[in-house]
Amino acid sequence: MTADLILRGATWLDVDAGTYREGDVRIHDGRFVDVDESRGSGSAEVRELDVAGRFVLPGLIDCHVHVTAHTAALDTLGAESPNYVAMQASRLMGDMLDRGFTTVRDVAGADFGLHDAQREGLLRGPRLFFGGKALSQTGGHADPRGRGESHETGEYTCSHIGRIADGVDAVRHAARDELRKGAHHVKIMAGGGVASPTDRVDSTQYSLEEIAAVVEEAEAANRYVTAHAYTGRSINRALRAGVRGIEHGNLLDDESIELLLEHDAFLTMNLVTYHYLQLEGREFGLSQENWEKVDAVLQGGMAALEKAHRGGVNLCYGSDLLGGMQRHQAQEFAVRADIVPTIDTIRSATTVAARLLQREGELGVIAPGALGDLVVLDRDPLEHVGALADGRPAAVVQGGEVVVDRLG
Ligand SMILES: [Zn+2]
Repeated sequence: MTADLILRGATWLDVDAGTYREGDVRIHDGRFVDVDESRGSGSAEVRELDVAGRFVLPGLIDCHVHVTAHTAALDTLGAESPNYVAMQASRLMGDMLDRGFTTVRDVAGADFGLHDAQREGLLRGPRLFFGGKALSQTGGHADPRGRGESHETGEYTCSHIGRIADGVDAVRHAARDELRKGAHHVKIMAGGGVASPTDRVDSTQYSLEEIAAVVEEAEAANRYVTAHAYTGRSINRALRAGVRGIEHGNLLDDESIELLLEHDAFLTMNLVTYHYLQLEGREFGLSQENWEKVDAVLQGGMAALEKAHRGGVNLCYGSDLLGGMQRHQAQEFAVRADIVPTIDTIRSATTVAARLLQREGELGVIAPGALGDLVVLDRDPLEHVGALADGRPAAVVQGGEVVVDRLG
């Protein structure tokens, strides 16, 4: 059994209330315990951290990452050795933990191998929720083939982030296959994207029948479907067909807001990635053609965030950064600060994210019984968003283990 951990003199954030509380925080056996009840429990070993004057938040959750995307040239990943990609993922996941992200949801690329490796302690990184390979139609957002390539797609090594499936029977099979491999959710490409060679951002992808079939399979397994979609047209038809999550949503419309509310669905935005794709995308391998798609989605994104926040949509924190741009992961806090109060972005990265992950009360909260994940900041993030956006917390605790210690 690991030693108990006590944070002395903590000023910790009650995320739901949006206010700080004072007092010690104790973690026993990997989970928060009531400080008073645990007194005199006779635990053999206790480690103490003095955090007086600092600010303690629940561990952060990034709901849209690609831990295998060590390059922005996603269409080349499938040609790489899975062993090599795993080593890259290990490094990227360690860096995420260093920034205070104790849990991430991978929405195309990660598999049960990385999940198990993290859980077994073979690699340092956030708790990993994964969907395996994203489902894409031929010519869809996860079809990596250029126009001149017409080879079958079945031979891809496991490094490619997607799989092609066309038709109701094929998508059903693909969804069942990802669920068989332990997927926590099924990701579908329901519209065009930026980092794909042959589609347009304004295309819709998959028929309603295909989407509904994937939803049926996911729900049969008590899992859910999340859909890559930018435009109102692609978002709205996916929501009507039963998906529970929308990724990106930059070009949503008023009806999208209504449908998101009506279905109690979740919108995971990731504006930071467009800022840095525009600034650094070419340098990190994004092709010129794909780089030219960035501007339209960046322009719409800020307006969409404002609309979604004002409408009371379940908004989740995402970053979606590729390659060397992943180092800006925490900057989404700063990007949103112009539009959304920081307490709400913190909720997007804690309590709302936990609901999306179907782990409400277990993740994203400092409360008895929840997993003992937290970050310690030198400054009050509600006053200085940089305290979070800098991505250098003073300490990070995961399951009661101090995994980052810059308290010095
Ligand atoms: Zn993505």
